[in-house]
Amino acid sequence: MVNAIKQEKNNILFVRLIGSIEETVNFDELLGPAPSEMEINCKEIPRINSVGVKAWIKYFQNCHKKGTVLRFTECSIAIVEQINLISNFTCGGSVESIFLPFSCSSCKSELIALYKTADLKKLQLKLPEFKCTKCSNPANFDDILEEYLAFLIR
Ligand SMILES: [Zn+2]
Repeated sequence: MVNAIKQEKNNILFVRLIGSIEETVNFDELLGPAPSEMEINCKEIPRINSVGVKAWIKYFQNCHKKGTVLRFTECSIAIVEQINLISNFTCGGSVESIFLPFSCSSCKSELIALYKTADLKKLQLKLPEFKCTKCSNPANFDDILEEYLAFLIR
């Protein structure tokens, strides 16, 4: 079940999607007709299944066709996986920032950290040292970096 918190400011529709995106999702009902510009915060989407992906692409593709400027921000790990898997997942929109998973071998914590995609591109797939927020020891990226960031270089 996914909910949306919407706010319009300077003709831009800001949307926060909260919850898993699956069979029950109805983006037309949730988000309404295509606006001229929309920023979608994807931080609180823990999961999206294949039916959810189809509904997502149908809705945002339609927005794209109608000329909506789309920006996806704070993409969760589940959303980054889809961006990498499906080449038109962002439907012509830009990906502004994404969460990266880290794990700390010292205290066994699993952590996430937010990065701007522009900064990641500048770093050329070399992450700066990330310190565990719980014990301050260096934490390791918890996936295959080249695969996780593949969408940035395609
Ligand atoms: Zn730690």
